[in-house]
Amino acid sequence: MKPDNNDIDLKAGALLRRFYGYSSFRDGQLDIIRNAMSRRDTLVLMPTGGGKSICYQIPALLNDGCCIVISPLISLMKDQVTALNANGIPAAAINSSNVEQVNADTMLQASRGRIKLLYMSPERLILEMEHRNFCNWVSLFAIDEAHCISQWGHDFRPEYTALNRIKASYPGIPVMALTATADKITRDDIATQLCLKNPYIHLASFDRPNISLKVLANPGKAKRINTITRMIDRYPDDSGIVYCLSRKGAETINAELAIRGYRSTVYHAGLSSKERDEAQERFINGDVQVVCATVAFGMGIDKSNIRWVVHNNMPRNMESYYQEIGRAGRDGMKAETLLFYSFADIATLQSFIEKSGQPALNTEKLTRMKEYCEATVCRRRVLLSYFNEEYDHDCGNCDVCLDPPVRFDGTRIVQMALSAMSRTNEMIGLTMLIDILRGSARAELIERGYDRIKTYGVGRDLSFSEWNAYLSQMLQLGIIEIAYTESNHLKITPYGRSILKGERTVMLAKFFFDKASSSKKRKSTAQSAVNPAELLFSELKRLRLSIARNEGVAPYIV
Ligand code: ADP
Ligand code: MG
Repeated sequence: MKPDNNDIDLKAGALLRRFYGYSSFRDGQLDIIRNAMSRRDTLVLMPTGGGKSICYQIPALLNDGCCIVISPLISLMKDQVTALNANGIPAAAINSSNVEQVNADTMLQASRGRIKLLYMSPERLILEMEHRNFCNWVSLFAIDEAHCISQWGHDFRPEYTALNRIKASYPGIPVMALTATADKITRDDIATQLCLKNPYIHLASFDRPNISLKVLANPGKAKRINTITRMIDRYPDDSGIVYCLSRKGAETINAELAIRGYRSTVYHAGLSSKERDEAQERFINGDVQVVCATVAFGMGIDKSNIRWVVHNNMPRNMESYYQEIGRAGRDGMKAETLLFYSFADIATLQSFIEKSGQPALNTEKLTRMKEYCEATVCRRRVLLSYFNEEYDHDCGNCDVCLDPPVRFDGTRIVQMALSAMSRTNEMIGLTMLIDILRGSARAELIERGYDRIKTYGVGRDLSFSEWNAYLSQMLQLGIIEIAYTESNHLKITPYGRSILKGERTVMLAKFFFDKASSSKKRKSTAQSAVNPAELLFSELKRLRLSIARNEGVAPYIV
């Protein structure tokens, strides 16, 4: 018999008020609940903080029996169970951190209908499925963080793949898969892998208009720290996250903040689980204002007053980026995000990718991330179009919208750079190229005879930063590419050759030097009499060496 939606609406609304204290459902929640109650498989794609948990928790309460929730992390399960119990809902988790007898008792209680939500890992479910029958007492399987099942997703967990057995073993029990990753390829893969039967798909908008988007290219070390501390100061009563690519990077920023008297902690996979729990706890309860972390931090964090997220390095793909910035502003109030991006990040990420299982796919994802960073159109458009969401206007809340670039015919600049590359047989990296263009008298350059090539010094009218920015755009536009396997030398692409030959022209976005930091830099340079290009060079060299030695990533460069 088809369930009566009116009846479900009334009962669901009453549960929402009674157990959660909310007066109304958010967009989509009630439709999802109704579909789950009609025992249809469901795929829920909703951004982080969108309110996915309620979508399976309310059906669990409305149904007889127990809803089994698959979750990838013990800490996530614990948080959820604690929150549910605090609201008076009988929930429990079985996992390896419990004594086995306790797990067995919990299973027994659940099978007798005394527990409404039972959390476990995918491995655990498969193990239990081997010697237990779920037929008579399981009302729903909820697969949280369902993107973990897909190799296309950003957080693939091989254990999740075994979940395809659920439908095979229990075709009559509905499955609800939930994720905040919604690019089409991952979305389709989740449904296929889980063998969902004609699923009801809820695709919420992934736009989080309250979160501002900003990218800063090539900031120096001092600028990074100053920008972060200004961000902290803007929100003295709230908190923020600094994401770094490497553990060392997170440690370094944390130390820099601590020296300046900020309450900060560090979180990465190199810490013991006790240390990690402590760090997370201190952040959640406001003991510290900032957590400097690697990607290891954040899944399932439900803290509403995270006002800002800074990426000290470019994330490896758009999915990670979206998830990480999505941890800010979960209360719907204004939140700021800022991403520091540099050539060095790309080189480092590419070196990680070469060691990963799917280099081609991951390189493609990295390219999309890079395109986002270098976008000269509304960033929210780029972000949402990545998630296949139509968004046909400029957002007005990203740095590109607020300060649109001025474009100019950059053909001559591009040709200068390409010519210098060509005359050095494309055997040089970024810094050397800029040095040649600017006519540096650096010893290595002279030794190699680069001061005698025709393009030596032709670009001295432009600053190092300007060249850096234009070369960045050339990379983004596909005029040049980085040969990651050849010491990061720059190469001219076929498109680049056509520009060099004068067959095509190219527009560049005008780079305006940050006046405040430039005057400061000039002052400090005068004092220390160090050439900033030399500084940059040594940084880049250090970074390349550390990559070559496989030491992980330098905390920040230039
Ligand atoms: P997700 O799993 O999608 O990241 P959660 O389920 O953790 O999100 O929910 C995020 C926050 O939104 C939680 O604090 C939750 O209590 C709250 N929330 C969910 N649904 C509603 C609602 N209908 N009204 C108000 N707050 C809600
Ligand atoms: Mg969730």
